[in-house]
Amino acid sequence: DERRILQYQITLYGDDERLVMARDITRLHRLEQMRRDFVANVSHELRTPLTVLAGYLETYLDLADHLPDRLARGLTRMQEQTLRMQNLVNDLLLLSRLEIDQGGNDHQPLDMPRLLEGVKRDALALSGDHHVIMVEVEEACSDRLVASEQEICSAVSNLAFNAVRYTAAGSHITLRWRRHPKGACLEVEDNGEGIDPVHIPRLTERFYRVDKGRSTATGGTGLGLAIVKHVLLRHDAQLEIESHPGRGALFRCVFPASRVSQ
Ligand code: ADP
Repeated sequence: DERRILQYQITLYGDDERLVMARDITRLHRLEQMRRDFVANVSHELRTPLTVLAGYLETYLDLADHLPDRLARGLTRMQEQTLRMQNLVNDLLLLSRLEIDQGGNDHQPLDMPRLLEGVKRDALALSGDHHVIMVEVEEACSDRLVASEQEICSAVSNLAFNAVRYTAAGSHITLRWRRHPKGACLEVEDNGEGIDPVHIPRLTERFYRVDKGRSTATGGTGLGLAIVKHVLLRHDAQLEIESHPGRGALFRCVFPASRVSQ
């Protein structure tokens, strides 16, 4: 492929002088593409051995009653870590797919209250009996969002699961779909531990965590908000985060009017 990719920077000096600088970024672009393909291929290749490993561990743990305690405990730890690796590999694969292909083929008008009810059920299941959380779906508008159901589901699930993971037992989480001056917005609000505003600008970077130990202990991969950011980019939407330590967090996805249908 003979095409070159150039990046221009134009600086204006007064009314009639301008400095134009062109940089050939073809090589940089190719390297970036190679990095994405590599991550996608490695994640894909890791999936099969991990599935086999998880399968064997499950079979052995079915026999745990007949095994010495130490062995059963060891197998349980191995199962937890295998699940962690599976989550990580799945998130890496999803993220590189979001970066590689343009998307848009499966966009359709989505019934948002129905979609949010589904996410609510999954969030409640994740929170479990010992950590019951109130999840509420507020329907402030019946407009539909023209988007990929799979991608929006994965973005909202990441936000809702974070809300569960960073709140204490008995907390309150609200999933909201409402009109917005720019079009419509989807909000996930919790009254949990919140985030210091200094961290907010970096939260959507891959593997950026406020507290690495806490995130890992609650099953985080460090890629959730990076996935949310990429899904929103593909839908011309923006992510706004409002939070303060101890006062919960609000994640707002703002969609333009062109994405909203009656
Ligand atoms: P992780 O898997 O670590 O949760 P994410 O990309 O989903 O990765 O989130 C990045 C970081 O943002 C988290 O490690 C956590 O520190 C912070 N965070 C995300 N959501 C919330 C929330 N609802 N309340 C408090 N902190 C949050």
